[in-house]
Amino acid sequence: MPLTDDIKFLKGVGPARANDFYALGVRTIADLLFTFPRAINDLSTVTTIADAPVAGDAVIIAEMRNLEERCPRRGKIRSIVHAMFTDRTGEMEAVWFNSPWVKEQLAAAGKTLLLYGKVSRKSGWLKMEHPRFEPTVAGIARESLNVGRMVPVYPCTGRLNQNAWRQAMNHALTATLAELPELYPPDFLREQNLTARQDAVRNMHFPANDAARAAARERLAWDEALLMQLAIARRRAAAVDAASGGRRIIVTPEIDAHIRRLFPFRPTAAQEKVLREITADLAAPLPMRRLLQGDVGSGKTAVAIYALLAAVANGAQAVLMAPTGLVAAQHFMTLEKFLAAGGRSKVRLKLLTSGMKKREREWLKTELAQGGIDLLVATHAAIEGDIQFKNLALAVIDEQHKFGVAQRDALANKGVGVKELVMTATPIPRSLALTVYGDLDVSVIDELPPGRQPVRSTLISSRQLPSAWDFIRAELAKGRQAFIVSPLREENEDYLSATAAFDNFRSHELSGCALGLLHGQMTREEQAAVMDEFRAGKIQALVCTVVIEVGVDIPNANTMLVLHAERFGLAQLHQLRGRIGRGTDAGHFIMLSDGGGEITTARLQVMTQTLDGFKIAQEDLRLRGPGEFLGTKQHGLPEFKALDLVEDLALINRARETAKQILPELATARFAALNAALSASD
Ligand code: ADP
Ligand code: MG
Repeated sequence: MPLTDDIKFLKGVGPARANDFYALGVRTIADLLFTFPRAINDLSTVTTIADAPVAGDAVIIAEMRNLEERCPRRGKIRSIVHAMFTDRTGEMEAVWFNSPWVKEQLAAAGKTLLLYGKVSRKSGWLKMEHPRFEPTVAGIARESLNVGRMVPVYPCTGRLNQNAWRQAMNHALTATLAELPELYPPDFLREQNLTARQDAVRNMHFPANDAARAAARERLAWDEALLMQLAIARRRAAAVDAASGGRRIIVTPEIDAHIRRLFPFRPTAAQEKVLREITADLAAPLPMRRLLQGDVGSGKTAVAIYALLAAVANGAQAVLMAPTGLVAAQHFMTLEKFLAAGGRSKVRLKLLTSGMKKREREWLKTELAQGGIDLLVATHAAIEGDIQFKNLALAVIDEQHKFGVAQRDALANKGVGVKELVMTATPIPRSLALTVYGDLDVSVIDELPPGRQPVRSTLISSRQLPSAWDFIRAELAKGRQAFIVSPLREENEDYLSATAAFDNFRSHELSGCALGLLHGQMTREEQAAVMDEFRAGKIQALVCTVVIEVGVDIPNANTMLVLHAERFGLAQLHQLRGRIGRGTDAGHFIMLSDGGGEITTARLQVMTQTLDGFKIAQEDLRLRGPGEFLGTKQHGLPEFKALDLVEDLALINRARETAKQILPELATARFAALNAALSASD
């Protein structure tokens, strides 16, 4: 029977049940075989009556005697089928209520039965209510799908009860499994120590034991990981072909020394390692697509500046794109400071944001197109259609998760063979990075600059709020500054709550302090003006929304209070926390949250336990799952049936290496089946 056949042709399914399968997205027999159980119950161990765990599930083989039906006159119970069972160790009673037909089934099943159910003890008697039962042959469980073995548990709907599922699966395995092609040549299977594909599919449903099930899952997870990594490897190879003879940005010793002189600090070892990786990318005549990950405050900007200045020193143009006007303005200032450190700089640096005056923007546009600007810092305004570069060689995208894939591509397409460096401080667990950003090379800055004070994080309830305010007022009195982050509301409404909070704090908790307000509905100029005052210390405490989530760097602000912390994701809280503890004073991160369930509290507690963004990301991924974790902006996450993105990092890494090795051989007869599967999964 072909695997592509409609499920309704399968023995015992028929049109009515087929509809229930369709509703679950199972149309063909292949679909059915690859719908894996949500659990496997181990009902393989048969115990004796004496050893049966009271209040636990047990499988028992015993002899039946005294089978009878009683019919009480009163109450809701009209029928009780009752039987006694014995084995050499003892006696047990079994009852079935309001199921008179069971009597005949029991009678037909023979004298020695296999029983499965929950055991209880009532007035000294061992008892099972509504046990499942199966006939046995010579006292041994006959081939059964429901007891006396590892039993699969499927998602039930409509007429699809567990038994119907198991019967259908059993028929499908018997009738069609032989049709399922192996994907790899025999020597490859042996080398990789993989279970054969047909065995793996069978053992996903009806394994003999836990080990067989684990091996089956690993084999099928491997297939998913390998197909994914082959697709990625193929995409990379195509990109390399397209860019052969691509541009090179050479960092000569002179250029290197010149750029380093502008740095006000010595790069950390982690920054040095990443700089080497980036310099190699820049020099190679290949496309550069590198993801730079580093926790908040790890110093990604400095690395980006090095790359940007290297491109400019090679006579090309470079652009740095940031997610908000605030961050763009800040990067612009940082770059100005760097350049000024070398005396009068020849680098022509400009800032482009969407709030610019028309005349200014026109001038900038012309200069960019004619090569009159070397280095552009911009918001997404840089990707507008009429912005052209003369000779764009490098695009750096800060906080790339704030941009869509299309926006990234739009920027890179403003030149030929533009090298791309994308940066993120939202750490992505490696397993996920290899999946979603699998076609990017990844560099990690895994060390913070020296002298940082760790941030102390606490979770408080409203009852503790007064002492939190005392604390904040004391910090302000010492000359420190604070952020008060107001809760997220509906899209575009968060400024309302920020405004209300601002009015409230000004007349109550923080009366007498210099307060500022910052939210996304203010114009760029207004935002910039507030940030300037905050940076200059004229504002002591800044009431704000998540507009300050990314990139803001004010070292003297060491305290942050987050209201309604439960409304934020862990990654977002980590970003917010990254805004403080940037100076040499200890940072204080206070999360206010009332109520919320156990999971909410557990989530927030993670924040108090670790400062490590990767650990937080891992926990966030575990709690919310890959889809939620990545949010809606990311695409291209395939649905995996066996692969576990949280747990299978080692396997994914191995698949990635293997994919690279076999890609050149993929078109040969040896890997024909694998190649076909890859085409089918596109
Ligand atoms: P992020 O990775 O969050 O973008 P930044 O690049 O904004 O981090 O750096 C955070 C702060 O650390 C900045 O004030 C920056 O000047 C400083 N910094 C970066 N690298 C170093 C270093 N190697 N030594 C000392 N300070 C550094
Ligand atoms: Mg940054």
